[in-house]
Amino acid sequence: MRSDRVNYSGFNFPGFNGLSALITGGSGFIGSHLSEALLDAGYRVTTIDNLSTGRQGNINHLIDRPGFQFVIDSITNEIVMDRLVSECDVIFHMAAAVGVQLIVSDPVRVIETNVLGTHAVLKAANRYRRKVLIASTSEIYGKNTQVPFSEEDDRLLGPTTKSRWSYSSSKAVDEFLGLAYHHQMELPVIIFRLFNTVGPKQSGQYGMVVPRFAQQALDREPLTVYGDGTQTRCFCDVRDTIRAIVGLSECPEAVGQVFNIGATDEISILDLARQVIQTVEQVNGPSPVPQNEAESVRFVPYHEAYETDFEDMLRRVPDITKIRQFIGWEPRLSLDQTLRDIVTELMEAAAPKD
Ligand code: UDP
Repeated sequence: MRSDRVNYSGFNFPGFNGLSALITGGSGFIGSHLSEALLDAGYRVTTIDNLSTGRQGNINHLIDRPGFQFVIDSITNEIVMDRLVSECDVIFHMAAAVGVQLIVSDPVRVIETNVLGTHAVLKAANRYRRKVLIASTSEIYGKNTQVPFSEEDDRLLGPTTKSRWSYSSSKAVDEFLGLAYHHQMELPVIIFRLFNTVGPKQSGQYGMVVPRFAQQALDREPLTVYGDGTQTRCFCDVRDTIRAIVGLSECPEAVGQVFNIGATDEISILDLARQVIQTVEQVNGPSPVPQNEAESVRFVPYHEAYETDFEDMLRRVPDITKIRQFIGWEPRLSLDQTLRDIVTELMEAAAPKD
């Protein structure tokens, strides 16, 4: 496969801190925020993305920045990965097939992307002895309801006949493989489990609830609450998440460890819908959606939203004691602030350009 290098601006730029980062999946939602943050921190940044779920629009504003390079290719292209890994100091492996809708509709792609992709990254990293941070997921904990989840907790998964569990299992294989490379080959590997992460640039295309609700409210459509809306989540602002990831990468004691990264304030999905409607009213003016809740929210049964016998996680709350102890991290931005920023961004994107 041809590797398409969009831009390369060298590394002799003001503020260069001497470190080069390779970000797989760097034009996805979280990867693009990470690319920008590392550039701001003085890293030279190379992003590789096959644009399957990532969007070039997420990083267009970085293309002309000194020290930034964007490669359109698959991380399973061994020749390209060999060169990129040889040129970097640290790898942030963010490339993955994500989103519950995709997991249910295309499990082959999810399993292959996650398992083969991580294997390719670890093999190349081991060849050049580079530090690797692997993005994992709170899906690892499965349908355990004993919240908060701490890193050593047991996993509770459904049967293999339900494709929803393939994502959790594929990321668990990634974690096992990363830890095995660390224990057997002393490769410096750090694993972080992302809980629900939200913020500007997130697409609702793959099912993520916050961008979907925000767009529905702006379009004056009823918000689609799956199930009865009593299931809860904790939503962490991506800018807080990025601080955690960069902090872990710079912490020598974090090597060989697994960390949760997430917010701890729990909210039900129905309350989230109400808060999104309120935020849109505050930012966009009154009554964007009907005031009557029966009209502003549409309850969609799980089997319609996903698949027959779909099992949702009822609660998902991280225990963040460990990351707090290692790097002093905790989230700073409130959900209220994040929702305002998301709604403002969507409104600006929809505004007619002069
Ligand atoms: N959800 C919803 N309406 C939507 C999309 C999602 O009610 O349009 C629910 C979904 O069933 C889940 C929660 O919102 O309970 C969070 O979904 P998301 O896909 O964002 O993340 P998950 O926590 O499931 O990985």
